[in-house]
Amino acid sequence: MDDAQKRRANPIKINVFMKNYPPAIRYSAAVAVSFLAFLFSDLLFPLFHSPVFFLPLVAVMISALFGGGGPGLLATFLSAVSFVYYFVPLTLHPSAHSASDLIRLGLFLLFSSLICWVSASFRSAYGRAEVARAEAEEANRYKSQLVSSVSHDLRTPLNAVIGYTQLLLAGTYGPVAGDQESALERIQRNADDLLKMVNGILDLAKIESGTMSVALAPVEIPPLIEEILMEIRPLSDQKGLAIQCHLLGALPRIESDAMKIKQIIMNLLSNAIKFTDRGEITVIARDREERNGIEIAVRDTGIGIRPEALSKIFEAFYQVEGTEKPKGSGLGLAIVKDLVHLLRGKIEIDSEYGKGSTVAFFLPYSFS
Ligand code: ADP
Repeated sequence: MDDAQKRRANPIKINVFMKNYPPAIRYSAAVAVSFLAFLFSDLLFPLFHSPVFFLPLVAVMISALFGGGGPGLLATFLSAVSFVYYFVPLTLHPSAHSASDLIRLGLFLLFSSLICWVSASFRSAYGRAEVARAEAEEANRYKSQLVSSVSHDLRTPLNAVIGYTQLLLAGTYGPVAGDQESALERIQRNADDLLKMVNGILDLAKIESGTMSVALAPVEIPPLIEEILMEIRPLSDQKGLAIQCHLLGALPRIESDAMKIKQIIMNLLSNAIKFTDRGEITVIARDREERNGIEIAVRDTGIGIRPEALSKIFEAFYQVEGTEKPKGSGLGLAIVKDLVHLLRGKIEIDSEYGKGSTVAFFLPYSFS
């Protein structure tokens, strides 16, 4: 992007200092800075008590804080008034004024120019930072779009691989001998893992690029949890783990996206199963009336997470080093966090290494 394009892309942001701050902060800053400047000018120039003399300083402040356009014109006008009022008579009749008056006026103008120069540098530094931020955002959007379309294109051939492997395993193309069967099963397992990963990347890219939509509807939490537990039971049965469910009190219906809540709980439960060998897994759902929402927690008695890894656990592709358990993609919790935020909720994890983990998320009653 050349300079002209950058200016076209950011016509206002480059010119206006503090543009991104809320108006209340901008106006308070303007008032505070002008007041300080007034005190300062009073200290520096005790002879000049006339409010007119104060005008150039106010003008400089206005243009420093709000920049360009109208404020710039106003600043120029106020400066001109002050100039005419003071400087012209002073130059025409220098004898009528003492030398110290002239020096003070010179100092005053110097001081004002200095503030002008500082504010201009501030503005241009801020403008450069804004351009860099806009470019980074643009690059991130391109990245998400690219990832999203590549992942999408990968899914079609992957589904074909999985589909044909299933047909081969079912004997549709003739009998399958012993070794062939185990090889086909391995193909299917790996293709399934790859598909899960591609779906995960696609989900993350969609959420990041803001194209993941939310299908809002009234959601009943207890039947949703029951459905999830039914679906996940084969996985927990394989490891001989029991899943308990505690619904604390009457849970109100919430306005949210049931499929996304299901995806969140499914991800948390499959992690809990993956990282637990002994003990049990518990799903706890409760009403958090004081916060206008509900909370769902998945607790396990598994390997737990070391404190130093906890802060990174929600990052995409992060996996705890030294975990001997079956490796995943490191995307599960990143997607869970993004989905919870998409549903305007909050998530937190609590874990004790060697004892187990609890991941709890909060969802508001209403989306609006
Ligand atoms: P993965 O696909 O590797 O499970 P996640 O994003 O779901 O990716 O999890 C990231 C890492 O966090 C995992 O590799 C694991 O080390 C750790 N982790 C997640 N959930 C648990 C849990 N319930 N118990 C112990 N460790 C966990």
